[in-house]
Amino acid sequence: MNSSSSLIGDSILNLKKELVPFNAKLVAVSKTKPVEMILEAMKAGQVDFGENYVQELDVKQKQISAPINWHFIGHLQTNKVKIIAPYVNLIHGVENMKALEVISRQSLALEREIEVLLQIHIAKEETKFGFGMEEVMKVVSDLFENPLPSLKLTGFMGMATFTNDEQLIRNEFRSLRKLFESVKNEFEIRGVAGFDTLSMGMTSDYKIALEEGSTMVRIGSAIFGSR
Ligand SMILES: *Cc1c(COP(=O)(O)O)cnc(C)c1O
Repeated sequence: MNSSSSLIGDSILNLKKELVPFNAKLVAVSKTKPVEMILEAMKAGQVDFGENYVQELDVKQKQISAPINWHFIGHLQTNKVKIIAPYVNLIHGVENMKALEVISRQSLALEREIEVLLQIHIAKEETKFGFGMEEVMKVVSDLFENPLPSLKLTGFMGMATFTNDEQLIRNEFRSLRKLFESVKNEFEIRGVAGFDTLSMGMTSDYKIALEEGSTMVRIGSAIFGSR
């Protein structure tokens, strides 16, 4: 074992310890990093991995035989859903109705339920994708009226503005948490279980995200080094 690979294991173990009081889950973001690094993280007990690019994920999952929970966290083009549908566990960045319909169709054909998070636009930047805060309430109620088969909405995902302004980041995460809680409440009233995931926080802002109620952090560079 070389020194960089044991560093990966140590980072995983330290992060997991840090997440315990928050009862949050770690997704290790392995995009652009080699399969060897994923295997090293697996030795430390990590099973959830996040990838951003369909082709890269497809190559990597073919190379690893041990079971992994694959998270797709990138911008998903609808014509590529069918490539990852056979093995992806959770798609974080669903940002329009069309994508939801395509995922449902593909998962139904495969007879395998796929979990999705709706990406919510919380940042100041125009460049970040996602549903608007108001728009998403309509999408959720439409899904209650007309559930999409073989697709399970389990929560929301959001990315804060890339800034040093901690208060801005905190406010953005807090607003997403509020929205999450109100929709979670709606699920509970209707007796529908499983809306329980709030995916927010990456290397630069996960500590703030945890304080603001994140249940799932997506961390890459703090584990695998900078890209
Ligand atoms: C790359 C990426 C991450 C991880 O970023 P780090 O800063 O390396 O922790 C998390 N979420 C998304 C959506 C990403 O694209």
